[in-house]
This record gives sequence, C-alpha cells and structure tokens, in this order.
Amino acid sequence: MQWRRIKAEILAYGGVRPQEVPERWKDRSTAGPGARGPGSFFFATDNGRVRVAVDDDSRLSLNVADDGSAVITGPGLRVEGWLEEPALHCPRQAYITLSEGCIFGCRYCAVPEGPCRYKTPDDVEALILSVLDRIDAVSITSGVLDSVEADEARAFAVVSRVMQFGKPVGVSIYPTTETPRRLHELGVSEVKFNVETATAELFAEMCPGLDYDLVWEVLAASVPLFGKNRVYSNVILGLGETDEEMTACIRRLTGMGVIPVVRPLTPSRGVAHLPRPDADRILRTAEVLRGALSTAGLDPAQALTMCSACTGCDLVPGVDL
Ligand code: SF4
Repeated sequence: MQWRRIKAEILAYGGVRPQEVPERWKDRSTAGPGARGPGSFFFATDNGRVRVAVDDDSRLSLNVADDGSAVITGPGLRVEGWLEEPALHCPRQAYITLSEGCIFGCRYCAVPEGPCRYKTPDDVEALILSVLDRIDAVSITSGVLDSVEADEARAFAVVSRVMQFGKPVGVSIYPTTETPRRLHELGVSEVKFNVETATAELFAEMCPGLDYDLVWEVLAASVPLFGKNRVYSNVILGLGETDEEMTACIRRLTGMGVIPVVRPLTPSRGVAHLPRPDADRILRTAEVLRGALSTAGLDPAQALTMCSACTGCDLVPGVDL
C-alpha cells in the first residue's frame, strides 16, 4: 500500500487505541493547538509523518517499544514506523497557542470549551528556551480572548520577543486588515489566515460573527508581502461542502498565491453529528490540491513553520504525494 493511502486511511480513522506505550512516549504537550484533547502521538515512517489522536474506541491500535519503534494495525492495515517526540505541540517546532479561550464560537472548534488564559511574552520565551535545542521554527497561534484587536496586540508583543531566537516565525491569528503589514514589519516568515470553510454560506453557519471576506482580503494582501510559498490558509474538509465547492475554494486560494492546508474534519462539539471524510475523499481532494498547487507553481514542501512544515494532520503534496 502506498504511503498516501496509508496516511489517508489513518486520517480517516482519526485516532488510535494505544496498547502498550512506555511512559516516556506519552504526549504531555500542553502548549499548542489541540492541547486540550486526550493527547496524541506523532507516528513517522521513511515516507512521512502522521499525527494520531488517542481514541480508545478506534479500530486502529498502536504498539510502541521502549526504543520508540511503533506499529499501527487495523482492518487491512499494518504499518511499521517509529514515534517522534514533539518539542512544543509538534516535532521540531515550538508551536504555541497564546490565548486559550475564544469569544467566538466556531462550531467545529474545541478552544472555547476550556478555561480562558493567555501567555505573556515572558511565558512564551520560557517555553521556547525549554526546547530551543530541539526546534527549527517558532509558530504562534491564538484564540480571541478579549477582542480581535487586543489579541492581535498581544501577539505582536510576543512576536517581537521571539524574533531574538533567530528561528523562522510563523503566525496564524484571526486578522485585522493591518495584520499582514505589521507581522511583515516584525520579520515574520510565514502567515496562515484560515478561510476554514469552502463556501461563504458554510462560513456564516460555522463561524458566526467572523468575516469570511475579510480573511480573503487579508490573504490577498499577504502574498505580495511574504512572497511565494509563505502564505497559507486552512480549509476544513467535511463540513458539508461538495467536491466541486472544495475544488473551487482550493483553486481560488492557489490562484491568488495562497497554499491551502486541507484539513479533514474532526467531528466534535457543534459538528459531532457530521461523519469524518473517508480515505477516498481525502485522497481525491489531495490530488485536486496537488494539481492546483502545480498549476500555480506553489510548493508546501518549502514551508518553514506551522502545519505545512509539520504535515501531521493533512496529506501534503510534495511530501506525502
Ligand atoms: S499539522 Fe498543524 S495542527 Fe496538526 S499537529 Fe502539525 S502543527 Fe499541529
């Protein structure tokens, strides 16, 4: 079985049932996206990496030896590899969530459920120092704790502080029209502003109070500032869009120089009733993405930060296929 099919199958299952996992390999990340979940592992082979969430009901099981070698087994599937240790949230990065809480209530998002708190520049500096010898990049994301402007100001203060480490910095926050210019002035390498849904109608339904057109406008403004292969946008696969709508969204993004990060839905909270996209749809969409990126001359394998550098949660053309 090709790696792309194996990874699509694992993403479609969404998680693994850990059988034997020595204590040192258990995920203790509390600092990044997904930190409030039940935990996860980064499983790697020579062909790529996949992040697998802990799911005690999963039909896939994970066995790990003391040396970190690991095997995932399930219906029609057996793949050998090894576990990678995350630095902060994911391997080789300090991927840090500043505001853990959100005034918005996007239906698919787990962030608003937990207690609200935010990290100061001192907190972030200490976190990065704790993993400095194990990272190639710093990535910053945030919920919106008070207001878009207040959280943006906190993010700018943190970014100013972390530039001292001399690592590429990526930032993904809910933006204002001023965000790309300010981040570029601060020396940020890459940005990710998420359109989240393939259509404006789905966005209005899923993300009440947020502005779809603004995100597109900010993405368009970012491309000339940050350049080729440096502007990204998450699009969730499986929120009710058709294949045609997803294709149109992917092509619209690549056509303006933005690399889509097509993320299979994790059904939870307000979208718990929706099915996970199956492996065939994940693969089919990844092929559409590969074609659109190729036409636009874009390459997510060049990513320095954030999700396209990690590749754990999506099929990434140029890396996985
Ligand atoms: S792909 Fe993104 S969200 Fe997934 S583990 Fe990596 S950095 Fe985190």
